Amino acid sequence: MKHNDMKINIKELSKEELSAFIESLGLKPYRTEQIINWIYRRYAESFDEMTNLSKDTREQLKETAVIGNLTLLKTLESKDGTQKFLFELEDGELIESVLIPDNERLTLCISSQAGCAMSCGFCLTGNAGFKRNLKSYEVLDQVISVMRIIRDRDLSKNEKSGHHITNIVLMGMGEPLNNFNEIVSALRKITGLMKFSKRRITLSTSGIIPKILALAETGLGVNLAISLNATTDETRSMIMPINKKYPLKDLIKACRQFPLPPRSRITFEYVLISGINDSEEDAFRLVNLLKGIRSKVNLIPYNPPHIAINNHAPKSSARSSHFSRPSESDILAFKEILLNRGLMAVIRKSRGTDISAACGQLKADYTGGK
Ligand code: SF4
Repeated sequence: MKHNDMKINIKELSKEELSAFIESLGLKPYRTEQIINWIYRRYAESFDEMTNLSKDTREQLKETAVIGNLTLLKTLESKDGTQKFLFELEDGELIESVLIPDNERLTLCISSQAGCAMSCGFCLTGNAGFKRNLKSYEVLDQVISVMRIIRDRDLSKNEKSGHHITNIVLMGMGEPLNNFNEIVSALRKITGLMKFSKRRITLSTSGIIPKILALAETGLGVNLAISLNATTDETRSMIMPINKKYPLKDLIKACRQFPLPPRSRITFEYVLISGINDSEEDAFRLVNLLKGIRSKVNLIPYNPPHIAINNHAPKSSARSSHFSRPSESDILAFKEILLNRGLMAVIRKSRGTDISAACGQLKADYTGGK
């Protein structure tokens, strides 16, 4: 709860904690709602922006508290409109968020950890290793920062702020369920204080089974996505080492136990890699695996990184340098098998390939892959 200079970081407080803090300063209770409004709906970065608080009140707040903000280091915009934001944390670690426009949708993909320990073979973040868990406000502030950037751009163009993030996905750097408490705390603020619809938030996991069930118990009600990517334990363990701990059969069983609201589906992400997991047999096995689960499959043709990468991979895991994208005909054939057998399946377009929009690539570009 204390910031680096031992002041309280307001963005780390729940509404109840903020209320108690405001009371401890001898301020009127309605100040809590005013401060929430400034931070979560008007994206204020400092107490000085809170013009409906007296100067004395702002000074009093500054003496004991801070508003923790991420530092934007770099923005890249792709030809297709995808934007990547590289943020620096207080200790110098780097994380990235990606904003993806798609017709009426504006989806923000956020990071949950600096780096990642999961070593998935097709992922640049996995190549670079794990640095640390993000604090809840560092997760939350990716959303607030990008909301503010969008609003300020609209204002600078004299446009009425009509652009809003419509969807949030936790699919950036890191395994969110390995940072469970901070992620749950951030999501409670995003849904409760920012009033962002839980049905428009999707958490993606590599398959940390006990935490999938714990997520259901929080009652947060966000959507679940599973990064599946293979149909046999042999292949999945090769490209996703976590499968050795939580094998496919148990993972699918946990998905069957996950309580789904009416009309909701679990998303299964499947990165199609030539010669690894893209055969017709894989497609048939996928149909069988997901039988009876309300699901949709996102097929993501492997997108090779365009930069040299460090290779910190465990020897047991196949690495991205050996992978290639399947042919268009193989991709379509895979999808047809799923569709013909009643699975909902879409091929996801690669977005922002000219700005390294795949997981972890902006950070890798910025640091030379370290
Ligand atoms: S795909 Fe996700 S879980 Fe796997 S290494 Fe990359 S960031 Fe981590």
